[in-house]
Formats: sequence, structure tokens, C-alpha cells
Amino acid sequence: PSAMHDINLKPPPIKWDDIGGQENVKLLLRRAVRLSVEPPEVLSEYFDRPPKGFLLYGPPGCSKTMAAQAMATESGLNFFAVKGAELLNMYVGESERAVRRLFQRAREVSPSMIFFDEIDSIAGQRSGFSHNNSHRSGGGGGGTSSGVNVLTTLLNEMDGFEALHGVVVLAATNRPQAVDPALLRPGRFDELIYVSPPDESARRAIFAKVAARRRMHADVDIDRLAKETDGYSGAEIKGICAVAGMAAYERDRAGQVADEDKGIRMQDLENAIRNQKRQIT
Ligand code: ATP
Repeated sequence: PSAMHDINLKPPPIKWDDIGGQENVKLLLRRAVRLSVEPPEVLSEYFDRPPKGFLLYGPPGCSKTMAAQAMATESGLNFFAVKGAELLNMYVGESERAVRRLFQRAREVSPSMIFFDEIDSIAGQRSGFSHNNSHRSGGGGGGTSSGVNVLTTLLNEMDGFEALHGVVVLAATNRPQAVDPALLRPGRFDELIYVSPPDESARRAIFAKVAARRRMHADVDIDRLAKETDGYSGAEIKGICAVAGMAAYERDRAGQVADEDKGIRMQDLENAIRNQKRQIT
């Protein structure tokens, strides 16, 4: 398989406004975009080295990927995205080539951004890191690339990055403790951005965004839903809304429901909340 199918130049059209809450994340990423296009001579009046590598970390389903996509959409930067695991599923040498090509392309079409999702899968701690070489090529060529080689290539590209004006590099992980510390050194992914589970006002915003697109019964109380979903991720809240929507659809389709009583009811949402397991502890 070629590396290039993993790389797309057109981000899904996610906007900042599609993300409920996370104001601080939005602020920091907007600033990253601004810095990436600022003339170096201006920046050098303020600091030695503007940040170029950003690591988004935090629990699953809390909008890390969405934030990267929104950043690409709203900034108009050329967007390259690749998942760590996909890079490893290539033959020896191919992954390293793919990484080098990625940086080269990003430089060619700057201003641009590169997004490494699930970075921990290539940049897991080198000590004790062993990649399962189950995927072998036909003749004599050896197996799949090892995480170590891909990581080394990535480190080299980040270091050679000094001259790399106009390229922002973003990575995401929900296992920051599994990321090789070499990747976090100054000049590499040295800007850590915590993407937290949604707080109450963010949860209210997520429910409100869904409600705006759905048929909601008048009894739905979004403030209460936000209070009742402490500890749920954004993805889980979307899941709750989907389950509630299906319940309402079935009821409205099956019965003689008066028009003003149609739609998703508070009870549907509360049932869904009760049945939704929380992933964040
Ligand atoms: P993972 O670590 O599992 O990859 P992630 O943090 O990258 O998770 P996303 O893929 O960005 O999470 O989010 C998953 C889905 O959850 C999104 O597609 C979206 O539907 C929903 N979601 C999560 N957080 C929010 C939010 N703050 N506002 C709106 N939707 C959200």
C-alpha cells in the first residue's frame, strides 16, 4: 500500500464553532497558525525559537482530532494528516520514506500543517518497544517498519525544521506517558496542549449544537443534561444523543403521537445517559 492514500490535503469541513467548549485549545491553536505565518525577523525580536510542534493530549473522544481539523479548515493551511498505526503498516523503509516525503510536501506547499494522529503508536517508548513483525513481504525484503526507525526519521525531520518556516506540526495522543520523551524535547513537540473532558458549559454547548439540528420535544432541559453528564466525553454525549434520537424515532413512527409531542424527549436522553458507559475515569 502506498503512503499517499493516508494523506489528504482537504480536511473534513469542521469549524471551530462545531466544537463545544475547549476555548483555551482553540486560542492556542489559533496562535500557532498566526506564528507559523509571521515573518521570522519579527518573531526573533521576541524569542529565539517560535514553537513549531504541538502535542494535543487528553482522554479519548474529547475533540483532539476535531481541533486539528478545525485548525486546518479555518486557517486555510494545506493539511496533511496521517495516523501513526498506518505508518507502521508499511514495509521496511517505506514508512521512513513516507515521513520524509510528508515533510517535503508540507514544505513545498507551505503554509501548511502536518497532523500525526495516535502519535504514541510510532513514538512509543523505545525501551521495551517492540513492533510485531507479522506483516512480511514476499521475498527476502523483511517485514514491516519498526517504530524505532520511523521515530528516528521523525526526530530528524523535526530537528531539520529550524529553517522550516510556514509549517506547523501537530500530534495527538491519549497516552502521553507512552510517548518517547525524545519527541518532547525543546524544538520538537515542546508545546503540550491538554484537551480536557468537556466541563459543564462545554457539555451544554455540545447538547445545544445537537438540539439545534434535531426535533426536540419542549420538555428537553439542556442545562440539566449538562449537569447530569459530568465525566462523559464529547463522543459519549454525541452517542447519547444518537441513542435518544433512535428511541424517539421508533416511538413517533409506531404510535399515534400528536405533532407537538413528537421528537426527542428528556426521558429518551436520560435513559440513554443511564445506559452509556463512561470511558473517562
Ligand atoms: P481519540 O483520542 O479517541 O482519537 P479525539 O480526542 O481525537 O479522540 P475526536 O475524534 O476529535 O476525539 O472526537 C470524537 C467525536 O466526539 C467527534 O467526532 C465529535 O462528534 C465528538 N466530540 C468530542 N468532543 C466534542 C466537542 N467538544 N464538541 C462537539 N463534539 C465533540
